Amino acid sequence: MKKVSRRDFIKGAVASGALVAAGGVLAACSNENNSTANQGNTPSVQWDMETDVLILGAGGAGMCAGYEATQAGAKAMILEKTNNWGGTSVRSGGIIQASGTAVQKELTEYQDDNGDKHADYYLQEGEGMLHEDLVRDMTNNSASHIEWLESLGLKFTNVTGSAHVPMADESLYADRIHGTDVGAAGVFGAVHDVAEQSGVEFVYETEATKLITENGKVVGVVAKQGDKEINVKANKGVIIATSSIDHNQEMCRALSPNQYYDNEHAVCVAAPSNTGDGIRMAAEVGAQLSHFGGVIDLTGKTSAGINRQTPLMPCFFVNKFGRRFMCEDTTYALTSRELWREMVKTNHACYTVCGPNERMDQATLDGMVEAGTAFKGATMAELAAQIDVDADNLQMTLDQWNRDITESGKDKQFDRATGLNPIEGPFYAFEEGFMNLGSIGGVLIDLDCEVLNGKGEAIEGLYAAGMASAGWLGSFYPGSGTALLGAIHWGRKAGKVVAAK
Ligand SMILES: Cc1cc2nc3c(=O)[nH]c(=O)nc-3n(C[C@H](O)[C@H](O)[C@H](O)COP(=O)(O)OP(=O)(O)OC[C@H]3O[C@@H](n4cnc5c(N)ncnc54)[C@H](O)[C@@H]3O)c2cc1C
Repeated sequence: MKKVSRRDFIKGAVASGALVAAGGVLAACSNENNSTANQGNTPSVQWDMETDVLILGAGGAGMCAGYEATQAGAKAMILEKTNNWGGTSVRSGGIIQASGTAVQKELTEYQDDNGDKHADYYLQEGEGMLHEDLVRDMTNNSASHIEWLESLGLKFTNVTGSAHVPMADESLYADRIHGTDVGAAGVFGAVHDVAEQSGVEFVYETEATKLITENGKVVGVVAKQGDKEINVKANKGVIIATSSIDHNQEMCRALSPNQYYDNEHAVCVAAPSNTGDGIRMAAEVGAQLSHFGGVIDLTGKTSAGINRQTPLMPCFFVNKFGRRFMCEDTTYALTSRELWREMVKTNHACYTVCGPNERMDQATLDGMVEAGTAFKGATMAELAAQIDVDADNLQMTLDQWNRDITESGKDKQFDRATGLNPIEGPFYAFEEGFMNLGSIGGVLIDLDCEVLNGKGEAIEGLYAAGMASAGWLGSFYPGSGTALLGAIHWGRKAGKVVAAK
């Protein structure tokens, strides 16, 4: 369990500025263009560097933006806080959702999939929260992004699908998760190389700290290089591609209870340099913060719903009361959200209960017991006593599972699709937990990646892409490959749009 010390909190608070103290972030939403820190005084600004398209963050979205900007004939510069390109994108699985691609047709049964079907699926998974125009724009261009990556020499060799979710219509489903054999390093290595060859200037160990505005228009940024502060001029616009608020606990406290919980009690494996800087800077000039609350979480041990090709073993989750509360094999981020809600609601751990099975045989489970990571009981009563749940309820939960599966072959309570076999003793339980892959939420954008203020008007000169942008993703993560689709789509689009200014 990762502990965040009081010192880390204070450090985070200082780094994120007084604006993001609880409540302050939200106040900033309706406070467009009135930051005293940045108000238009450019005649007195001593510019140290200058470009046309200034991009903050050399992750997936940033590099795609840089490439497209230079291809459109503009000069592009990327300021990167760390000493290397890649961000979370290069640490990822490198898989990307897309619809209607040649490779999808070649490798799957889904011959008539298309961007609108894909969008409809995402919109249903978005529980009514998403901006339809943004979602359709992204999915309707997804095939072209795969073609572009193929033109860089990448070969997509597998197409899989995300696990089912209760709120989405199965007729809209297709296998859409495109993977290569070279992983994220191969995918983003290719993007980096082509961006560099195309003339994008990468400036490392340079942390953007503040937007510079002139009469409400964003015209550049202040950045830190070691102890030095520099001013970088953007002739056409600034693109924020610094991802979400992953490691900024003060912003998480204000905006995302789930991310806050994960940083306290689990581990967040997103790039440590992703501390919400771009979102905080945009909030200072009045950007509308949007779609926070969701996270990209994997369940700890069962990795439930990793994709449709990996069925969940026969098992069920139980809460404090020894009862099931959800369908266990829905897509992982939904599973995680429900587990997290249950844990918080009851202030009690949730457990996976199983018997020996094909995925986890008795030797494996006994090994976990020996290592202290699982509990074992010859009977449910014995197990219940160890995990502090009601023994009668736990027995009833097992009886109902076994009865439903044996009599009907179905999970009558939650409509589970996989692992539908009876569970027999000896019984095991292990505590569920999370691995966090980053937070959802950012600054609200329009179809041109322009950052919107509290009134829904574009803030001149300011754009966002990837996980720093919002409106196209939430309220939980709908399945592998969505974040990278967003990083590539909004990154490429922002680069083109700003270059054309
Ligand atoms: C282990 C793991 C596996 C994953 N697998 C997948 C997958 O297979 N498919 C998928 O779709 N998603 C996956 N995700 C999620 C996905 O990788 C991220 O959501 C996505 O890469 C974010 O892209 P981005 O371009 O918005 O940000 P990033 O790629 O994180 O780039 C942000 C960059 O901004 C820089 N930065 C931050 N602050 C500043 C500043 N002030 N000044 C300058 N630079 C700054 C950072 O250092 C970083 O380089 C995974 C995540 C993890 C952790």
